[in-house]
Amino acid sequence: MGAEVTLIEKDEPGAHASGKSFSWINASYPKKPWSYFHLSRLSLASYLNLQNQLNLDIKWGGSFEWFDTEEQTQMLEKEIKNIQLYDYRKPINEYLVKMIDQDQARNLEPNVNFGSHSSIAFSKIDGAIDSLSAIREFLRKTRDFGGQILFPATFQKFKYLGKKLVAIQTSVGEIATDQVIFACGIDTDSNLNSKIMKSSRPGIILTSKPMEKIIDGVIVAPGVHIHQQIDGKVIIGEQQGAPMSHFDRLTNRPEKFPNEEDSNQHQDRILNIAKKFIPKLSNFDMEKITIGWRPLTKDEKPVVGPLLKMPGVYVAAMHSGITLASIVGNLCQTELLDGNPSSLLEDFRPSRFN
Ligand SMILES: Cc1cc2nc3c(=O)[nH]c(=O)nc-3n(C[C@H](O)[C@H](O)[C@H](O)COP(=O)(O)OP(=O)(O)OC[C@H]3O[C@@H](n4cnc5c(N)ncnc54)[C@H](O)[C@@H]3O)c2cc1C
Repeated sequence: MGAEVTLIEKDEPGAHASGKSFSWINASYPKKPWSYFHLSRLSLASYLNLQNQLNLDIKWGGSFEWFDTEEQTQMLEKEIKNIQLYDYRKPINEYLVKMIDQDQARNLEPNVNFGSHSSIAFSKIDGAIDSLSAIREFLRKTRDFGGQILFPATFQKFKYLGKKLVAIQTSVGEIATDQVIFACGIDTDSNLNSKIMKSSRPGIILTSKPMEKIIDGVIVAPGVHIHQQIDGKVIIGEQQGAPMSHFDRLTNRPEKFPNEEDSNQHQDRILNIAKKFIPKLSNFDMEKITIGWRPLTKDEKPVVGPLLKMPGVYVAAMHSGITLASIVGNLCQTELLDGNPSSLLEDFRPSRFN
């Protein structure tokens, strides 16, 4: 059994969060409640499975995370101990997530300056994906299966006959359907007239031109995230969001800097932090700088499932959407095609905001 699928996108696929993401696929720290962590862990396994069917550029190099303050470090150590309970039957040296010191970390990532940090969380199973190339691959496969992809095409409204959804109205005409899935990120509430999302926060990402290989894993250092894709491009994301003083200017969620000077300032600021940890980034040759807006739900946990008051409408909104895409896609498909609600999604239903 299957479904006839039409994907509509108001701009172009990957135009917003998914194409402007740091794209770390992670099951490390500090996802809570544990059902959220568990879902992330399952998603990593689900990606491995998906890689048997699709050509996804994922670099499985693990992740290295550490903090500057004693308080944050203690919290990290405590949470990693909890995560290690997943591996309780393994010998300690085979734990998938563990604390390592700067010498062990340097052995794995010789080009990274870990300073004198002796508590670094190493999550062996994490990876990072080239999300734009993954989107192209998903579209290709959708077309192969007979699906239609329409863009630019904007959802406008629903058409119900009694309580039954029969079509949606879009900017390119009416599309007959009995089931719509809204995976529309920061626009979830404006499309569904719902109260699921809170204000989005921006994040800047720098992408280099392809470089010689510098790192294997995802480096999550104080103030900055760095990884290098399979094609050699280095991706740098900032941890610190925009300061409060910028909030007025940011209410319209701009995806471009007001001028080149601003863009250069941000690039220099982020690159200077990154170079402290990876001096070889002095050769960083910029390909692009992007501003992405994070889809944040009210409690920052995923929101996945049917909208009970709107028959035929299903929503999937979340931060960590790159990490979770694989498992959530899988579970949505099972719920919608087989009609069996998944207990893995119990904690994440949209009904919690009613
Ligand atoms: C800077 C940054 C760093 C991030 N880092 C990570 C990370 O390391 N790991 C991780 O797991 N997650 C990360 N995220 C979060 C992750 O990128 C998002 O959770 C994920 O991309 C959300 O996907 P989405 O499909 O819900 O939203 P989007 O990718 O924004 O897609 C939604 C699409 O819906 C379209 N749309 C909206 N309304 C309509 C309409 N009416 N009709 C038609 N189309 C419509 C939009 O145009 C948009 O393209 C990051 C996000 C940002 C911004």
